Amino acid sequence: MGTLQLEVVTPDRTVVSAEAEMVVCPGVEGEFGVLPQHVSLLSALKVGTLLYRVSGKDEHLFISGGFADVNNNVMTVLAESAERAADIDTARAQAARDRAEKRLAASDDSVDTARAEAALTRAVNRLRIAGLR
Ligand code: ATP
Repeated sequence: MGTLQLEVVTPDRTVVSAEAEMVVCPGVEGEFGVLPQHVSLLSALKVGTLLYRVSGKDEHLFISGGFADVNNNVMTVLAESAERAADIDTARAQAARDRAEKRLAASDDSVDTARAEAALTRAVNRLRIAGLR
């Protein structure tokens, strides 16, 4: 069935550059799969797991939202941050989760609730993906 070229890029680096047999993305309107020779597509992504298969092996990647573009059998994912499961620092994610939970529990007017909720979502997703490695 062939492959599609997957490129996952953050402001710092290219995190993945691979020939993938399939990709599953956390689209803002729900998960969607991309197979080789997919029609052109542009979608916003939410925080979650990007799953991709290379040589029959599934890999899990944390992404903090962003955009996916599919064109001419190349899929480009632009994300503010992206980490392979094996590269996630679980102690750091636990600390981020605890910090966010404390801020949300404080119910203090100085707490930016949306920011704390977003940090909590990133931390919980990182911990879940790290658990898959
Ligand atoms: P923290 O509060 O720990 O900084 P955060 O969710 O605010 O977490 P981001 O803004 O998403 O962090 O990411 C900043 C940079 O740090 C990115 O390069 C990201 O890949 C990296 N990063 C953040 N948390 C982790 C982690 N637990 N393991 C590995 N890299 C991480």
